[in-house]
Amino acid sequence: MKYDVIIAGSGLGGLLCGYMLAKEGLRICILEKNHKAGGCLQTFHRTGVVFDTGVHYFGGMDPGQTLYRYWNYFGLTRTLALERMNPDGFDIIGINGQDYPMAMGFDHFVERLLPFFPSKKENLEKYMRCLKEISSSFPMYNLELPKDHNEENFRGRSAYDFFTELSPGLLSSVLAGNNMIYAGNRETTPLHLPGLINHSFISSAWRTVGGTSQIASNLTDGIVSNGGEIMLFEEITEIRLNGDTFDVMTEAGRSYSADKLISGIHPSKTLKMMEPSIFRKSFFKRITNLKNTVSSFAVYIVLKERSFRYLDHNYYYHPTEDVWKGNQIAEWPSGYMLHTPAPAAEDGFAKSLILLTSMPFEKVKKWEHTYRGYRTQDYLDFKEQCTAELLEMAEVRFPGLRSAILFSEASSPLTWRDYTGIPEGSMYGVERDYKEPLATTLLPATRVPGLYFTGQNINLHGVLGVTISAVLTCGEILGLEYLLSRVRNA
Ligand SMILES: Cc1cc2nc3c(=O)[nH]c(=O)nc-3n(C[C@H](O)[C@H](O)[C@H](O)COP(=O)(O)OP(=O)(O)OC[C@H]3O[C@@H](n4cnc5c(N)ncnc54)[C@H](O)[C@@H]3O)c2cc1C
Repeated sequence: MKYDVIIAGSGLGGLLCGYMLAKEGLRICILEKNHKAGGCLQTFHRTGVVFDTGVHYFGGMDPGQTLYRYWNYFGLTRTLALERMNPDGFDIIGINGQDYPMAMGFDHFVERLLPFFPSKKENLEKYMRCLKEISSSFPMYNLELPKDHNEENFRGRSAYDFFTELSPGLLSSVLAGNNMIYAGNRETTPLHLPGLINHSFISSAWRTVGGTSQIASNLTDGIVSNGGEIMLFEEITEIRLNGDTFDVMTEAGRSYSADKLISGIHPSKTLKMMEPSIFRKSFFKRITNLKNTVSSFAVYIVLKERSFRYLDHNYYYHPTEDVWKGNQIAEWPSGYMLHTPAPAAEDGFAKSLILLTSMPFEKVKKWEHTYRGYRTQDYLDFKEQCTAELLEMAEVRFPGLRSAILFSEASSPLTWRDYTGIPEGSMYGVERDYKEPLATTLLPATRVPGLYFTGQNINLHGVLGVTISAVLTCGEILGLEYLLSRVRNA
């Protein structure tokens, strides 16, 4: 079996690359270790209720906005069932018992926060100007070729310093209150992460109706109808470079060959599956030593009928003004995000609810040698204890939540590690560090001819970041100018 391109992993990045290359007539094959395509887009069902795992909302899906323009090329603007979140507050930030809305629309965002911060109009307006400046400095965010740009100005600045300088005190905490969506921390987070992500949400914020796996299945259909292949249950164990050909070996003992290889698997894992001598020592060392963003702990809850109102926004809860504690281990949980998946029941109540919080891998390290289906009782007890602690915190703002639960199940960093293969179950892969922007920014092309990376570890995580990365990766093969014009004119 010889292909033009083998794609390792069928996460959003792998699927988007497969779609573009198959559409452009290349013979492609995607190899995926799990029984379903989609990676973090996968959903699961409990008592007939669908739960998203790794994508709860995304921005920029109004016609003409960034994600809409990209996804139009992939046919996703015509096929996805989406719900626009509450324009008056798609994210509500709860701090010290008070709720603050993050609204859609740049003027509206300011208007909605002004009653809480009447003396901070200038700060809020400055924030909106900064978001626009950041987004216009990233050509690919605007579907333009990356040249003469100022991206580095923002990759090399601290997000924490930015928010604190913008307005010290409570307002800075509110503006950074959804920082779990970019694993924000004081020590490393660069400004471009909240800059691009919040710009896209404020432009317009959306959730899927019926689960994010529809994104994966729509892309899969497009790939197959263009002659591409997706092999499930094919865990890659080794990648050999034989002359100009990549030979990819799987756990099942099969072998696939191609002229080119795109890896949507974490870059350090990709390199460890290859012969180290084909890489420069410094590159191998840099990539295999990259730090990853914090992992997560989630509780998936099926609710009793008519017990909890559907929320058309996400709720981010912080017990204190210090919203930058997600990667610390001492005070767990340091806060949470609460989300009621769409659709609501017809009577306006929620059918299910997800509580999500950060969790450093150290919390589960003692069980790192156990795997899915073979965990020990003390690990299961630990998960139960964490669930109880998280619910206790949620009960403060949502009294009665515990008694609304029909069924619940939790995921930990180990669940994520085993499910997506991401080291330590990291939420968003490689951690970008504003102090080392070059060393922590990965490019899609490597010095090994024919070997490319894609996915959240390139450029930016999240559905928007992964989409841009996929276009950058395939642009290396098809020509970026050509590909961007195809996307723009779709
Ligand atoms: C808890 C959580 C919440 C999130 N919430 C949001 C959100 O609300 N909005 C948003 O935009 N983003 C969100 N994200 C981020 C977003 O889900 C990811 O950035 C994005 O989906 C990553 O896509 P990817 O293709 O890079 O990687 P992945 O989805 O991780 O795909 C990698 C694929 O490779 C496969 N694989 C791994 N190893 C092998 C192997 N050896 N052989 C074969 N296949 C292999 C995996 O099974 C997987 O399918 C969230 C992430 C998490 C974890």
